[in-house]
Amino acid sequence: MNRTRVVVIGAGIIGAACARELAVAGFDVLVLDRAGAAAATTSHGEGNILVSDKGPGPELELAQLSRQLWPEVLAAVGENSAGVEWDPKGGIVVATTAEGAEGLRRFADTQRAAGVRAEAMDSDALTAAEPFLTERRTAAVYYPDDAQVQPAGAATALLADALRAGARLRTGREVRGAVVRGGRLTALRTADGPVAADAFVNAAGPWSGEVARRLGVPLDIRPRRGEVLVTTPLPPTVFHKVYDADYVGAVGSGAGDLQTSAVVESTRAGSVLLGSSRRRVGFDDRLRPEVLSAIAAKALRLFPSLAGVHVMRAYGGFRPYVPDHLPVIGADPRLPGLWHATGHEGAGIGLSVGTARLVRELLTGSQTTIDASPFRVDRPAVLGTDAPDVSEEES
Ligand SMILES: Cc1cc2nc3c(=O)[nH]c(=O)nc-3n(C[C@H](O)[C@H](O)[C@H](O)COP(=O)(O)OP(=O)(O)OC[C@H]3O[C@@H](n4cnc5c(N)ncnc54)[C@H](O)[C@@H]3O)c2cc1C
Repeated sequence: MNRTRVVVIGAGIIGAACARELAVAGFDVLVLDRAGAAAATTSHGEGNILVSDKGPGPELELAQLSRQLWPEVLAAVGENSAGVEWDPKGGIVVATTAEGAEGLRRFADTQRAAGVRAEAMDSDALTAAEPFLTERRTAAVYYPDDAQVQPAGAATALLADALRAGARLRTGREVRGAVVRGGRLTALRTADGPVAADAFVNAAGPWSGEVARRLGVPLDIRPRRGEVLVTTPLPPTVFHKVYDADYVGAVGSGAGDLQTSAVVESTRAGSVLLGSSRRRVGFDDRLRPEVLSAIAAKALRLFPSLAGVHVMRAYGGFRPYVPDHLPVIGADPRLPGLWHATGHEGAGIGLSVGTARLVRELLTGSQTTIDASPFRVDRPAVLGTDAPDVSEEES
């Protein structure tokens, strides 16, 4: 049995998935979080597990691996998975302009070539699948492998399973700095004293850059704000995850100004989630009326019948954004002992279990299930330039 001591920094979905994967494999795992389980971005977003929005490339491969793993992981989690609300309902991407239709068809063709199931829908099939959808549609593609979870429920279920497998969780513990010996990270500084281990996994989401900086190595992870509106519970209105074809452009864009696109899905409780926005405004968490109204306007273009419904609340969170739109997964060559599992931007819920699998495979030096090199830490997009000195300290 592997009794390597690993500290996972962050109890969001990424930290929870890594903790579970490592604890089940026999690692001695401690999860540290300055707040609580699923207290940050993981409870401030949506829970879509998408292959539909990813073009061919490494992120799609990670999404396909994760999609394959989700049912296996949840089956292994067993009774702890009650709050996960796993719903493999499929996704429908809808274009509403001639140009959008052309782009959607081309995109789906490239995805099919990469092994994604993407089925063109005619208007009758679309009406049967989504009777309340706008008549203004020019093309639609059905993605049977898109699914949904309740993200905080999923994170806490993964964490509970990690604890069952022997992991420990300490909340209210902020990582403040590093203890480095012989050039190697040997412990984390916290207000309660140093926490020693053999390896440390930085899974601090949008704060991973700050955590890395405190540990002495810059990492360019930035917050990208997103907001969602929540309706009161409705009679069945939206049956799949439905989004407009612009969404893929908004995801792929790095623009800092406001981007919105309609992403609409129902939840098990009957509320419909209307998302979402993308803005780069640092950690400014103010809800902006103009952002919420832009989201609502786009959602109504897809589902005009939502016009009369009650919005009971709105919330937002910070996606962990990397300028090249790829997560950061692997050892930090600048500081042996430090690993990163972060930068999943708007896809961390979906990608969590595949990320955890790669982290375990990399930590054990095994062959990785997919090529992990595109996610490596030492790529120009993630190596910040304002490197503070890494000072050698004794604890
Ligand atoms: C509006 C919106 C919609 C989204 N929709 C989807 C979606 O449909 N599907 C999808 O897959 N993804 C979606 N996402 C993205 C997804 O939510 C994130 O990618 C994911 O939650 C990131 O998880 P994480 O564990 O990396 O970060 P977090 O959940 O933020 O967890 C990081 C943890 O680190 C802790 N931490 C930070 N600093 C320290 C420190 N110094 N010491 C100790 N602990 C620390 C924090 O307290 C926190 O608990 C959405 C995001 C938003 C904002």
